[in-house]
Amino acid sequence: MKLKSAIKQSLAKKILIYMILLMLISSFIISVVTYDSAKKELDEKGKIILKNAATSAKAVIDSYDETIRMGIITREEAEEDIKRKLMGHLQADGSRKIEADMDLGENGYLLIYNSEGLEIMHPRLEGLNMWDVVDPINQDYYIVREQIKAAKAGGGFVYYNWEYPESDKIGKKVTYNLYDENWDWVIAAGSYIDDFDDGANIIIRYILVITVVVMLLGGLMSYWFINQMVSPIHKVVMAMKKVGRGDFEPINEMPSEDETGVLIRGFNQMVASIKTANEELVNQANRITYLAYNDVLSGLPNRNRFRTHVNNQIELGCEQAYFVLLDIKDFKMINSIVGTQMGDQIIAAVGTAFNAHADTCEMIARSSGNEFVIWIERDSIKALEERLNLFEKQFKEQLLSLKIYQRIKFHMAVVKYPTQGADFNQLISRVSIAMKYAKEDSYQRTIYFEEYMESAIENNVVMKEELESALKEDQFKIAYQEKVSTQTNRVEGVEALSRWHSDIFGTVSPVVFIPAINQSQLTVKFGYYVVKKALNDYPKLVQKYGEHVTISINISPILFLEEHFLIEMKQFMNQYQIPRERLILEITEDIFINDFDLVQNRIESLKGMGILIALDDFGTGYSSLNYLTNMSINELKIDKTFIDRILTDEKTWILFETLTKMAKAYNYKVVAEGVETNDQLVKVKEAGIDMVQGYIFSKPSFLNEEEL
Ligand code: C2E
Ligand code: MG
Ligand code: MG
Repeated sequence: MKLKSAIKQSLAKKILIYMILLMLISSFIISVVTYDSAKKELDEKGKIILKNAATSAKAVIDSYDETIRMGIITREEAEEDIKRKLMGHLQADGSRKIEADMDLGENGYLLIYNSEGLEIMHPRLEGLNMWDVVDPINQDYYIVREQIKAAKAGGGFVYYNWEYPESDKIGKKVTYNLYDENWDWVIAAGSYIDDFDDGANIIIRYILVITVVVMLLGGLMSYWFINQMVSPIHKVVMAMKKVGRGDFEPINEMPSEDETGVLIRGFNQMVASIKTANEELVNQANRITYLAYNDVLSGLPNRNRFRTHVNNQIELGCEQAYFVLLDIKDFKMINSIVGTQMGDQIIAAVGTAFNAHADTCEMIARSSGNEFVIWIERDSIKALEERLNLFEKQFKEQLLSLKIYQRIKFHMAVVKYPTQGADFNQLISRVSIAMKYAKEDSYQRTIYFEEYMESAIENNVVMKEELESALKEDQFKIAYQEKVSTQTNRVEGVEALSRWHSDIFGTVSPVVFIPAINQSQLTVKFGYYVVKKALNDYPKLVQKYGEHVTISINISPILFLEEHFLIEMKQFMNQYQIPRERLILEITEDIFINDFDLVQNRIESLKGMGILIALDDFGTGYSSLNYLTNMSINELKIDKTFIDRILTDEKTWILFETLTKMAKAYNYKVVAEGVETNDQLVKVKEAGIDMVQGYIFSKPSFLNEEEL
């Protein structure tokens, strides 16, 4: 029990001090009042004694009157006799000894003057005239004159200051004075007031002793009592301190029924409520902290935590690392094919696959929807590639274990620390630029950041501005590439491919300017512009290739789904007099991310107008057979990337062959794009391909024969 705790002490001390002060004040008042009344009482008694003494002395004097009158004794003899009785014998030195049996206090005695102030009886001053004697303190006060005055007035008290016998000390004196006319004497009984007050001093001494004892006892009792009172408060204070340190323990005590009991019970209830609220808070805080640094879906760290990790590694002196941005290719499409639940599993699988071989310095985090950031500390690109290969291998296994058989690819962009980015912000900004390039390049898995990319992005801004005026000024041209029949070598149709020659950028590939057009919200305007331009060329194409020739135009999903698309196309067909089944619109698989039924309805309506539909770039996206079986398309264009692998990759070849057979079974024409070599031509023919569009026959060219 630490009774000396600061708070308790201060409270106990205060009460103790108050109580002692209270006792002191009351003792002081009691002492003063008692002393004062005792003193007054003693003074009164003393005065009565003096009065009695003076009266008795007068009676003694008067008793001599008769004997003198009878001549038994002379007046002189009587005078001496009286003095002996009232005081004592005359000494040889002229003084008179105080022998009378009369208690007027320690220094009290009787005096006699005559009415002229002559000392008749005095221990030392007999025979002296005291008429002019003044009070030693108050020099205007003639003592004996006052005494004579009081005596003659019928008797009275006179107060004055006078020296103590055989001492220089001055004390306050009082005399009772009576006048005897027969003798012409003033009889004064006097004493020092202090002599009477001695009793009061004794009383005050007693009072002081009692006060000290009472104070000691009172102090001890108060201390005990205060402790009893303060102890529960002390317990509450200690328990509150514990609460402050997060220890929510109640006070284990059977509380009494008084206010302290109410205090302790109330405190315990309060602590219980705070404990619950605190637990709730801690849980919420943990959850908030978790959410602040983790991604709920994948259980991976989020960008915040990743940033902290990268900064820490840099601070710890990491010498070389690679900052990788990883994007799951066509994730929207995957989600629409496999469903969002499986999509979520794929996201989680990325983290699991990477972490299966991650060392303590490495970290993968989910930065947004289908994007991840990775920190890999390796000292060469070769070592990095090995690590990424290992990750991809692990990822494939992970997907198989989840029974996900979809082929999933990544775009990966890489920036090197510290040479290409010294801090997190620079690294993320540069790796994002590299990612733009990675997304445009379907051939390479990993794109490494290079300085030119940064300036190209800046160029892109200028390009967007330029494109609008290019449209107004009709700077675009259409090149046509032939589609040749594998059986007859006849040109069955041509594909319209846009070309832009800019004064600033020179000749720009559609791979570059088509995305810029989309970003500038010029897609619809540009789309109709190309359609009109191509259809306008149609008579020339017929002239060149014959009436059977078809014209294929690439249509972006935005244009295809534009509100007025069907009406516009109908109008163009009439305006340019295009016969049925000569216009082919090329769409790509990503159009099916949108409302499947809407797309299907549009295809049906276009068919009704005699327009044919080709599915372009097959083999680059998700090549879902679903579209082949459910969509009423007319032509399947197999992408160059696919054709490039049929000679070298057995699996691709088998897939290619099967696909061609299947498409033919559904009555689609199958076109092989990007055939460049004779070997490829032989192979595509072997698979039963209907048409080839590739450099082996012709490159895209303008109608005036100008080659690009
Ligand atoms: P695409 O529709 O698949 O067009 C075929 C692309 O393959 C063309 O590239 C063509 O020049 C190229 N090509 C054909 N045969 C060969 C070959 O043997 N070897 C090589 N290396 N390439 C070959 P291009 O003209 O650069 O166009 C690229 C893409 O830009 C097109 O791919 C198309 O998706 C898009 N595009 C072009 N013009 C337009 C347009 O007017 N509107 C829209 N929406 N997209 C367009
Ligand atoms: Mg095309
Ligand atoms: Mg294509």
